[in-house]
Amino acid sequence: MLEASNLEVVYDDVMLVLRGVSLRVPKGQVVALLGANGAGKTTLMRAFSGLLDVHDGKVTKGSITLDGEPIHKLSPARIADRGIKQALEGRRILAELTVEENLKVGGHARPKRLKQNLDRCYELFPRLQERRRQSAGYLSGGEQQMLSIGRALMSEPEYLLLDEPSLGLAPLLVQQIRDLVVKINEQGTTVLLVEQNASMALSIADHGYVLETGKVVMDKPAAALLADDDIREFYLGLG
Ligand code: ATP
Repeated sequence: MLEASNLEVVYDDVMLVLRGVSLRVPKGQVVALLGANGAGKTTLMRAFSGLLDVHDGKVTKGSITLDGEPIHKLSPARIADRGIKQALEGRRILAELTVEENLKVGGHARPKRLKQNLDRCYELFPRLQERRRQSAGYLSGGEQQMLSIGRALMSEPEYLLLDEPSLGLAPLLVQQIRDLVVKINEQGTTVLLVEQNASMALSIADHGYVLETGKVVMDKPAAALLADDDIREFYLGLG
């Protein structure tokens, strides 16, 4: 299990952004993290993947543990070695490289299984196989998002962290991303899913958390969140 306990994160030594967040991602599950803009969702993802440093952020209290072992002082590379990998936003792919080269970059830590992992990616994303020799910069937004997820999967993570994979995508593509997350989870990968699209996220999650100004304000099974009046009103627009 991946777990944040009473986590406090500060940017630039002064700006307190996470104020004692506790969240659990049990192995095998899909956990959804919801919250308005600026609530701290991306910050929490960065803390899990070790990317806070790059943004002048720091854990000032609490811990992140993997199966009980603290990991919040490790570098992103060491955290990835432990099986935790964040799919960076679609735009962060390497635009001058081909689709396949991007995937190979993602798989460098597992050289012996490169072929197998490429095949797995192409099975999950047939579209990427069709375009494997093209420059990644020419992919559509949805395809770039898929490439970003595929690249993360190439390192065979046990925990996949997805930050708004459906952002800016047309409804049909959102549906495709949703189905893919379900499939990836069924194949054994645990998923922490940050989403503005609450109905999509909760429809596939086992458990959900709602973050508000750096604090967890709800922590419930996804089905209970879907039935909650406040969630229906504020996040699902069903008030
Ligand atoms: P969004 O959905 O808009 O991405 P979020 O819930 O992911 O929001 P964060 O991006 O984690 O929220 O931001 C939380 C707060 O931290 C915001 O007030 C933001 O301005 C601030 N913040 C984020 N990154 C930095 C940084 N590198 N330096 C200083 N402040 C930051």
